[in-house]
Amino acid sequence: MKMERRKAVQDEEVASKTVEKGLLIVHTGAGKGKTTAAFGLLLRTVGRGRKAAVVQFIKGAWSTGERTVLEGFGPLVEWHTMGEGFTWDTQDRARDVAACCRAWEVARGLLAREDLSLVVLDELNIALRYDYLPLDEVLAAFAARPAMQHVVVTGRNARPALVEAADLVTEMTLVKHHFAAGVKAQEGIEF
Ligand code: ATP
Ligand code: MG
Repeated sequence: MKMERRKAVQDEEVASKTVEKGLLIVHTGAGKGKTTAAFGLLLRTVGRGRKAAVVQFIKGAWSTGERTVLEGFGPLVEWHTMGEGFTWDTQDRARDVAACCRAWEVARGLLAREDLSLVVLDELNIALRYDYLPLDEVLAAFAARPAMQHVVVTGRNARPALVEAADLVTEMTLVKHHFAAGVKAQEGIEF
């Protein structure tokens, strides 16, 4: 029967996938959902009793609702925020570079830890795009991380070399966004 044949093909395909490894994951593109999808993976991780950490490279003016909830998982979730404003708010490149470098030092420490199943580097793509951090150094730290550790990098305009190095790349496509119709950032949706 047709359905039986289809199931056999599917079983065979599933059986042919035998590799387990830490994934380098990139969420990029102009559409909304990059950061929230990363936090969805964080939920999946802590739901399995595994540890996760977040570094936010570009912190907006807002405190986010998700941080409060996710930090409630106690020792399973570690959260680091860069602590400075946006470039276009501060207009001070040297300050932004210094803040990104501090955030990267924290991230490097996390990428060396065997106990972390997932490391979320939120908006790292923005820091790389503006050359706030050396791309080579970032890629080298990814390559040297523990074999089973998953890393998610978010932000628009992922650098091609990062896309090349990644295992999983998803581009959020902007089809429509309410900002264009004059709807402001709202609690529970944007922050
Ligand atoms: P989210 O945090 O909601 O998952 P994101 O990480 O994909 O969004 P960013 O590029 O980090 O998006 O932008 C951060 C903020 O800008 C979010 O609050 C989001 O609602 C808003 N935003 C995202 N995409 C767009 C867009 N295409 N136009 C205007 N605002 C956007
Ligand atoms: Mg984001």
